[in-house]
Amino acid sequence: MAKEIVKLHDKYFKKYISKSKIAKIIKQLAKNVEADLPKGEVPIFIGILNGSFMFAADFIRNYKGDCEISFVKFASYQGTKSTGEVRNLVGINESLKGRTVIILEDIIDTGNTLAEIYEIFREHQVKQLKIVTLFFKPDVFRKGLPIDYIGKSIPDKFIVGYGLDYDNLGRNLTHIYQLTQLKMKNIVLFGPPGAGKGTQADQLKDKFNLVHISTGDVFRYNIKNKTKLGLLAKTFMDKGDLVPDEVTIDMLKAEVNKNTDAKGFIFDGFPRTESQAKALDKFLTEKGQQINGMVALEVEEDLLVARLLKRGETSGRPDDQDESKIRNRFNEYETKTAILKDYYQAQGKYYGVNGVGSIEEITARLSEVFKKL
Ligand code: AMP
Repeated sequence: MAKEIVKLHDKYFKKYISKSKIAKIIKQLAKNVEADLPKGEVPIFIGILNGSFMFAADFIRNYKGDCEISFVKFASYQGTKSTGEVRNLVGINESLKGRTVIILEDIIDTGNTLAEIYEIFREHQVKQLKIVTLFFKPDVFRKGLPIDYIGKSIPDKFIVGYGLDYDNLGRNLTHIYQLTQLKMKNIVLFGPPGAGKGTQADQLKDKFNLVHISTGDVFRYNIKNKTKLGLLAKTFMDKGDLVPDEVTIDMLKAEVNKNTDAKGFIFDGFPRTESQAKALDKFLTEKGQQINGMVALEVEEDLLVARLLKRGETSGRPDDQDESKIRNRFNEYETKTAILKDYYQAQGKYYGVNGVGSIEEITARLSEVFKKL
Protein backbone atom coordinates (compact mmCIF):
# COMPACT_ATOMS: atom_id res chain seq x y z
CA MET A 1 0.00 0.00 0.00
CA ALA A 2 1.35 3.39 -0.97
CA LYS A 3 1.63 5.96 1.76
CA GLU A 4 -1.16 8.53 1.93
CA ILE A 5 1.19 11.13 3.41
CA VAL A 6 4.93 11.51 2.79
CA LYS A 7 7.37 13.89 4.41
CA LEU A 8 10.15 15.44 2.30
CA HIS A 9 12.58 17.71 4.10
CA ASP A 10 10.31 19.86 6.29
CA LYS A 11 7.07 19.49 4.32
CA TYR A 12 4.19 17.02 4.12
CA PHE A 13 2.57 15.86 0.90
CA LYS A 14 -0.62 13.90 0.48
CA LYS A 15 -1.40 11.40 -2.25
CA TYR A 16 -3.06 13.18 -5.13
CA ILE A 17 -2.89 11.27 -8.44
CA SER A 18 -2.36 7.52 -8.41
CA LYS A 19 0.10 5.74 -10.65
CA SER A 20 -2.72 3.93 -12.44
CA LYS A 21 -4.37 7.27 -13.25
CA ILE A 22 -1.03 8.59 -14.51
CA ALA A 23 -0.62 5.51 -16.70
CA LYS A 24 -4.05 6.09 -18.26
CA ILE A 25 -3.31 9.75 -18.98
CA ILE A 26 -0.01 8.90 -20.67
CA LYS A 27 -1.50 6.14 -22.80
CA GLN A 28 -4.08 8.60 -24.11
CA LEU A 29 -1.45 11.30 -24.74
CA ALA A 30 0.72 8.93 -26.78
CA LYS A 31 -2.30 7.85 -28.79
CA ASN A 32 -3.32 11.43 -29.55
CA VAL A 33 0.17 12.48 -30.62
CA GLU A 34 0.50 9.48 -32.91
CA ALA A 35 -2.91 10.05 -34.49
CA ASP A 36 -2.00 13.63 -35.43
CA LEU A 37 1.29 12.82 -37.18
CA PRO A 38 1.41 11.97 -40.92
CA LYS A 39 1.92 8.28 -41.59
CA GLY A 40 5.61 7.39 -41.78
CA GLU A 41 6.76 10.53 -39.95
CA VAL A 42 9.53 9.67 -37.46
CA PRO A 43 9.42 12.26 -34.70
CA ILE A 44 12.20 12.98 -32.28
CA PHE A 45 10.95 13.22 -28.74
CA ILE A 46 12.97 15.41 -26.44
CA GLY A 47 12.54 15.05 -22.71
CA ILE A 48 13.46 18.01 -20.51
CA LEU A 49 15.55 16.73 -17.61
CA ASN A 50 15.43 16.12 -14.73
CA GLY A 51 11.72 16.09 -14.11
CA SER A 52 10.52 14.37 -17.29
CA PHE A 53 12.62 11.22 -17.18
CA MET A 54 9.83 8.98 -15.89
CA PHE A 55 7.18 10.55 -18.04
CA ALA A 56 9.37 10.31 -21.18
CA ALA A 57 10.14 6.64 -20.48
CA ASP A 58 6.48 5.74 -20.06
CA PHE A 59 5.37 7.93 -22.95
CA ILE A 60 7.57 6.30 -25.57
CA ARG A 61 6.70 2.85 -24.28
CA ASN A 62 3.14 3.75 -25.22
CA TYR A 63 4.06 5.26 -28.59
CA LYS A 64 3.67 2.57 -31.20
CA GLY A 65 5.27 4.13 -34.30
CA ASP A 66 8.95 4.58 -35.07
CA CYS A 67 10.49 7.38 -33.05
CA GLU A 68 13.72 8.71 -31.60
CA ILE A 69 14.26 9.91 -28.06
CA SER A 70 16.75 12.33 -26.64
CA PHE A 71 17.10 14.37 -23.48
CA VAL A 72 18.19 17.92 -22.80
CA LYS A 73 18.81 19.81 -19.64
CA PHE A 74 18.86 23.44 -18.66
CA ALA A 75 22.15 24.40 -17.06
CA SER A 76 22.16 27.64 -15.12
CA TYR A 77 25.17 29.80 -14.67
CA GLN A 78 25.62 33.23 -13.21
CA GLY A 79 25.79 35.85 -15.95
CA THR A 80 26.93 39.43 -15.55
CA LYS A 81 25.23 41.52 -12.91
CA SER A 82 22.92 43.08 -15.44
CA THR A 83 21.77 39.82 -17.04
CA GLY A 84 21.39 37.86 -13.80
CA GLU A 85 20.99 34.12 -14.14
CA VAL A 86 21.51 32.75 -17.64
CA ARG A 87 20.23 29.35 -18.69
CA ASN A 88 21.65 27.23 -21.42
CA LEU A 89 20.15 24.13 -22.95
CA VAL A 90 22.71 21.33 -23.03
CA GLY A 91 22.55 17.99 -24.78
CA ILE A 92 21.31 18.73 -28.29
CA ASN A 93 23.76 16.74 -30.37
CA GLU A 94 21.76 15.60 -33.36
CA SER A 95 20.76 17.83 -36.24
CA LEU A 96 17.18 18.85 -35.79
CA LYS A 97 16.94 20.69 -39.09
CA GLY A 98 13.80 19.65 -40.93
CA ARG A 99 12.70 17.25 -38.16
CA THR A 100 9.45 16.96 -36.26
CA VAL A 101 10.51 17.74 -32.70
CA ILE A 102 8.17 16.91 -29.86
CA ILE A 103 9.05 18.23 -26.42
CA LEU A 104 8.08 16.11 -23.42
CA GLU A 105 7.62 18.20 -20.28
CA ASP A 106 6.56 16.90 -16.89
CA ILE A 107 4.84 20.13 -15.88
CA ILE A 108 4.20 23.59 -17.29
CA ASP A 109 3.26 26.29 -14.81
CA THR A 110 4.26 29.91 -15.52
CA GLY A 111 5.51 28.97 -18.97
CA ASN A 112 8.93 30.60 -18.51
CA THR A 113 10.78 27.39 -19.38
CA LEU A 114 8.46 26.81 -22.29
CA ALA A 115 9.25 30.28 -23.67
CA GLU A 116 12.97 29.51 -23.54
CA ILE A 117 12.40 26.21 -25.30
CA TYR A 118 10.51 27.95 -28.12
CA GLU A 119 13.29 30.47 -28.48
CA ILE A 120 16.02 27.84 -28.68
CA PHE A 121 14.31 25.40 -31.03
CA ARG A 122 13.32 28.13 -33.44
CA GLU A 123 17.02 28.60 -34.17
CA HIS A 124 17.36 24.93 -35.12
CA GLN A 125 15.08 25.32 -38.14
CA VAL A 126 12.94 22.35 -37.22
CA LYS A 127 10.10 21.29 -39.47
CA GLN A 128 7.63 21.56 -36.66
CA LEU A 129 7.77 21.87 -32.90
CA LYS A 130 5.12 20.38 -30.66
CA ILE A 131 4.77 20.44 -26.92
CA VAL A 132 3.42 17.62 -24.79
CA THR A 133 3.09 18.17 -21.07
CA LEU A 134 1.89 15.70 -18.47
CA PHE A 135 0.64 18.42 -16.10
CA PHE A 136 -0.44 21.98 -16.73
CA LYS A 137 -1.36 24.76 -14.29
CA PRO A 138 -3.78 27.04 -16.14
CA ASP A 139 -4.11 29.45 -13.22
CA VAL A 140 -0.49 30.56 -13.36
CA PHE A 141 0.33 30.18 -17.08
CA ARG A 142 1.26 33.65 -18.30
CA LYS A 143 2.36 33.11 -21.90
CA GLY A 144 0.46 33.15 -25.15
CA LEU A 145 2.37 30.13 -26.43
CA PRO A 146 0.61 27.04 -27.75
CA ILE A 147 0.71 23.81 -25.78
CA ASP A 148 -0.32 21.04 -28.14
CA TYR A 149 -1.09 18.23 -25.70
CA ILE A 150 -1.99 18.43 -22.04
CA GLY A 151 -2.26 15.30 -19.91
CA LYS A 152 -4.05 16.86 -16.98
CA SER A 153 -4.72 20.42 -15.86
CA ILE A 154 -4.23 20.88 -12.14
CA PRO A 155 -4.69 23.72 -9.65
CA ASP A 156 -1.71 25.80 -8.59
CA LYS A 157 -0.54 23.60 -5.75
CA PHE A 158 2.97 22.27 -5.39
CA ILE A 159 3.27 18.63 -6.47
CA VAL A 160 6.00 16.00 -6.24
CA GLY A 161 6.54 12.41 -7.33
CA TYR A 162 6.82 10.59 -10.63
CA GLY A 163 9.97 12.50 -11.53
CA LEU A 164 9.02 15.81 -9.91
CA ASP A 165 10.97 16.92 -6.88
CA TYR A 166 10.86 19.13 -3.86
CA ASP A 167 14.43 20.31 -3.37
CA ASN A 168 15.72 17.15 -5.09
CA LEU A 169 13.67 14.66 -3.08
CA GLY A 170 10.53 12.83 -4.11
CA ARG A 171 11.36 12.00 -7.74
CA ASN A 172 11.21 8.28 -6.99
CA LEU A 173 7.61 8.31 -5.70
CA THR A 174 5.37 6.34 -8.03
CA HIS A 175 2.26 8.45 -7.36
CA ILE A 176 1.87 12.22 -7.50
CA TYR A 177 1.64 13.91 -4.11
CA GLN A 178 0.40 17.41 -3.31
CA LEU A 179 1.72 19.78 -0.66
CA THR A 180 -0.48 19.79 2.40
CA GLN A 181 -0.48 22.08 5.41
CA LEU A 182 -0.47 20.93 9.01
CA LYS A 183 -3.78 22.51 9.79
CA MET A 184 -4.94 20.51 12.80
CA LYS A 185 -4.72 21.73 16.35
CA ASN A 186 -3.95 18.70 18.50
CA ILE A 187 -3.62 19.34 22.20
CA VAL A 188 -2.86 17.04 25.09
CA LEU A 189 -4.77 18.30 28.10
CA PHE A 190 -2.71 17.14 31.02
CA GLY A 191 -2.83 17.01 34.78
CA PRO A 192 -3.25 14.65 37.72
CA PRO A 193 -6.57 12.89 38.40
CA GLY A 194 -9.23 15.37 39.44
CA ALA A 195 -7.42 18.40 38.02
CA GLY A 196 -10.50 19.26 35.96
CA LYS A 197 -9.42 18.07 32.52
CA GLY A 198 -12.85 16.72 31.58
CA THR A 199 -14.70 19.84 32.71
CA GLN A 200 -12.32 22.13 30.89
CA ALA A 201 -12.21 20.01 27.73
CA ASP A 202 -15.99 20.33 27.53
CA GLN A 203 -15.70 24.12 27.45
CA LEU A 204 -12.73 24.26 25.12
CA LYS A 205 -13.89 21.79 22.49
CA ASP A 206 -16.77 24.06 21.46
CA LYS A 207 -14.77 27.23 21.70
CA PHE A 208 -12.02 25.89 19.43
CA ASN A 209 -14.11 23.48 17.34
CA LEU A 210 -12.08 20.46 18.41
CA VAL A 211 -13.02 16.85 19.06
CA HIS A 212 -12.65 15.84 22.71
CA ILE A 213 -11.37 12.31 23.29
CA SER A 214 -11.34 11.17 26.90
CA THR A 215 -9.93 7.64 27.14
CA GLY A 216 -11.49 7.33 30.62
CA ASP A 217 -14.92 8.19 29.16
CA VAL A 218 -14.49 5.71 26.31
CA PHE A 219 -13.58 2.98 28.79
CA ARG A 220 -16.55 3.83 31.01
CA TYR A 221 -18.85 3.77 27.99
CA ASN A 222 -17.58 0.30 27.14
CA ILE A 223 -17.99 -0.89 30.71
CA LYS A 224 -21.56 0.36 30.76
CA ASN A 225 -22.29 -1.47 27.52
CA LYS A 226 -20.47 -4.58 28.72
CA THR A 227 -18.27 -4.82 25.62
CA LYS A 228 -15.21 -7.05 25.56
CA LEU A 229 -13.02 -3.98 25.87
CA GLY A 230 -15.11 -2.75 28.80
CA LEU A 231 -14.82 -6.01 30.70
CA LEU A 232 -11.09 -6.04 30.19
CA ALA A 233 -10.62 -2.41 31.25
CA LYS A 234 -12.86 -2.73 34.31
CA THR A 235 -10.48 -4.99 36.21
CA PHE A 236 -7.76 -2.36 35.98
CA MET A 237 -9.89 0.74 36.39
CA ASP A 238 -11.69 -0.42 39.51
CA LYS A 239 -8.38 -0.68 41.32
CA GLY A 240 -7.12 2.63 39.97
CA ASP A 241 -4.48 0.90 37.84
CA LEU A 242 -3.71 1.91 34.28
CA VAL A 243 -5.19 -0.19 31.50
CA PRO A 244 -2.37 -1.88 29.48
CA ASP A 245 -0.80 0.25 26.76
CA GLU A 246 -1.63 -1.92 23.73
CA VAL A 247 -5.32 -1.91 24.58
CA THR A 248 -5.43 1.81 25.23
CA ILE A 249 -3.37 2.78 22.19
CA ASP A 250 -5.50 0.72 19.79
CA MET A 251 -8.64 2.20 21.25
CA LEU A 252 -7.31 5.75 20.94
CA LYS A 253 -6.36 5.24 17.30
CA ALA A 254 -9.82 3.91 16.53
CA GLU A 255 -11.39 6.98 18.19
CA VAL A 256 -9.22 9.37 16.16
CA ASN A 257 -9.99 7.51 12.93
CA LYS A 258 -13.73 7.84 13.55
CA ASN A 259 -13.37 11.63 13.17
CA THR A 260 -12.04 12.12 9.68
CA ASP A 261 -13.18 15.73 9.38
CA ALA A 262 -11.89 16.93 12.74
CA LYS A 263 -10.10 20.27 12.88
CA GLY A 264 -8.08 18.84 15.74
CA PHE A 265 -8.34 16.93 19.00
CA ILE A 266 -8.19 17.53 22.71
CA PHE A 267 -6.65 14.41 24.19
CA ASP A 268 -7.82 14.03 27.76
CA GLY A 269 -6.31 11.22 29.81
CA PHE A 270 -4.06 10.18 26.95
CA PRO A 271 -1.11 9.72 26.73
CA ARG A 272 -0.47 8.46 30.25
CA THR A 273 2.78 6.60 29.67
CA GLU A 274 5.86 7.31 27.61
CA SER A 275 5.10 4.47 25.23
CA GLN A 276 1.61 5.92 24.66
CA ALA A 277 3.18 9.32 23.93
CA LYS A 278 5.57 7.78 21.42
CA ALA A 279 2.78 5.79 19.79
CA LEU A 280 0.70 8.96 19.49
CA ASP A 281 3.56 10.87 17.87
CA LYS A 282 4.14 8.08 15.38
CA PHE A 283 0.44 7.74 14.61
CA LEU A 284 0.01 11.48 13.99
CA THR A 285 3.20 11.76 11.94
CA GLU A 286 1.89 9.09 9.59
CA LYS A 287 -1.12 11.31 9.04
CA GLY A 288 1.04 14.38 8.43
CA GLN A 289 -0.09 15.78 11.76
CA GLN A 290 1.47 16.44 15.13
CA ILE A 291 0.84 17.41 18.74
CA ASN A 292 0.85 21.20 18.93
CA GLY A 293 1.29 21.27 22.68
CA MET A 294 0.71 19.71 26.06
CA VAL A 295 -1.33 22.04 28.25
CA ALA A 296 -1.11 21.02 31.88
CA LEU A 297 -3.38 21.94 34.77
CA GLU A 298 -1.13 22.34 37.78
CA VAL A 299 -2.85 21.56 41.09
CA GLU A 300 -1.57 20.32 44.50
CA GLU A 301 -2.27 16.64 45.21
CA ASP A 302 -3.92 17.20 48.63
CA LEU A 303 -6.46 19.54 47.11
CA LEU A 304 -7.23 16.92 44.51
CA VAL A 305 -7.93 14.03 46.88
CA ALA A 306 -10.59 16.14 48.57
CA ARG A 307 -12.02 17.15 45.18
CA LEU A 308 -12.17 13.53 43.98
CA LEU A 309 -13.86 12.24 47.14
CA LYS A 310 -16.44 14.99 46.71
CA ARG A 311 -16.93 14.05 43.05
CA GLY A 312 -17.34 10.39 44.13
CA GLU A 313 -20.47 11.37 46.04
CA THR A 314 -22.23 12.15 42.76
CA SER A 315 -20.21 10.76 39.84
CA GLY A 316 -20.96 7.11 40.57
CA ARG A 317 -17.36 6.28 39.68
CA PRO A 318 -16.08 3.45 41.92
CA ASP A 319 -12.53 4.76 41.54
CA ASP A 320 -13.58 8.12 43.06
CA GLN A 321 -15.17 6.67 46.20
CA ASP A 322 -12.30 5.11 48.07
CA GLU A 323 -9.29 7.07 49.27
CA SER A 324 -6.89 4.14 48.79
CA LYS A 325 -7.95 3.79 45.12
CA ILE A 326 -7.52 7.51 44.66
CA ARG A 327 -4.05 7.35 46.22
CA ASN A 328 -3.23 4.49 43.86
CA ARG A 329 -4.26 6.62 40.88
CA PHE A 330 -1.89 9.32 42.08
CA ASN A 331 0.80 6.72 42.47
CA GLU A 332 0.24 5.61 38.88
CA TYR A 333 0.33 9.26 37.84
CA GLU A 334 3.57 10.01 39.68
CA THR A 335 5.39 6.87 38.52
CA LYS A 336 4.21 6.56 34.93
CA THR A 337 2.52 9.74 33.75
CA ALA A 338 4.24 12.75 35.33
CA ILE A 339 7.39 12.12 33.28
CA LEU A 340 5.45 13.10 30.16
CA LYS A 341 6.04 16.68 31.19
CA ASP A 342 9.73 16.11 30.38
CA TYR A 343 8.82 14.33 27.17
CA TYR A 344 6.92 17.34 25.81
CA GLN A 345 9.19 19.90 27.43
CA ALA A 346 12.11 18.42 25.50
CA GLN A 347 10.17 19.21 22.31
CA GLY A 348 9.39 22.74 23.51
CA LYS A 349 5.71 21.84 23.75
CA TYR A 350 4.90 22.01 27.47
CA TYR A 351 2.60 24.76 28.78
CA GLY A 352 1.79 24.80 32.49
CA VAL A 353 -1.40 26.56 33.65
CA ASN A 354 -2.48 27.25 37.23
CA GLY A 355 -5.40 24.87 37.80
CA VAL A 356 -6.70 26.45 41.01
CA GLY A 357 -9.61 28.87 40.70
CA SER A 358 -13.14 28.97 39.33
CA ILE A 359 -14.03 26.96 36.22
CA GLU A 360 -14.36 30.18 34.21
CA GLU A 361 -11.04 31.54 35.37
CA ILE A 362 -9.27 28.35 34.44
CA THR A 363 -11.02 28.16 31.04
CA ALA A 364 -9.81 31.69 30.34
CA ARG A 365 -6.22 30.78 31.26
CA LEU A 366 -6.33 27.67 29.09
CA SER A 367 -7.89 29.56 26.18
CA GLU A 368 -4.97 31.96 26.10
CA VAL A 369 -2.63 29.02 25.52
CA PHE A 370 -4.93 27.19 23.09
CA LYS A 371 -5.12 30.32 20.93
CA LYS A 372 -1.37 30.37 20.48
CA LEU A 373 -1.01 26.72 19.55
P1 AMP B 1 -9.85 9.17 33.81
O1 AMP B 1 -11.30 9.28 33.52
O2 AMP B 1 -9.01 9.84 32.78
O3 AMP B 1 -9.50 9.57 35.22
O4 AMP B 1 -9.48 7.61 33.68
C1 AMP B 1 -10.04 6.63 34.54
C2 AMP B 1 -9.28 5.33 34.41
O5 AMP B 1 -9.33 4.85 33.07
C3 AMP B 1 -7.80 5.39 34.77
O6 AMP B 1 -7.57 5.33 36.15
C4 AMP B 1 -7.30 4.17 34.04
O7 AMP B 1 -7.62 2.98 34.72
C5 AMP B 1 -8.12 4.18 32.75
N1 AMP B 1 -7.43 4.98 31.70
C6 AMP B 1 -7.86 6.13 31.13
N2 AMP B 1 -6.99 6.60 30.22
C7 AMP B 1 -5.95 5.72 30.23
C8 AMP B 1 -4.73 5.65 29.55
N3 AMP B 1 -4.37 6.58 28.66
N4 AMP B 1 -3.90 4.60 29.79
C9 AMP B 1 -4.24 3.66 30.68
N5 AMP B 1 -5.38 3.67 31.39
C10 AMP B 1 -6.24 4.69 31.19
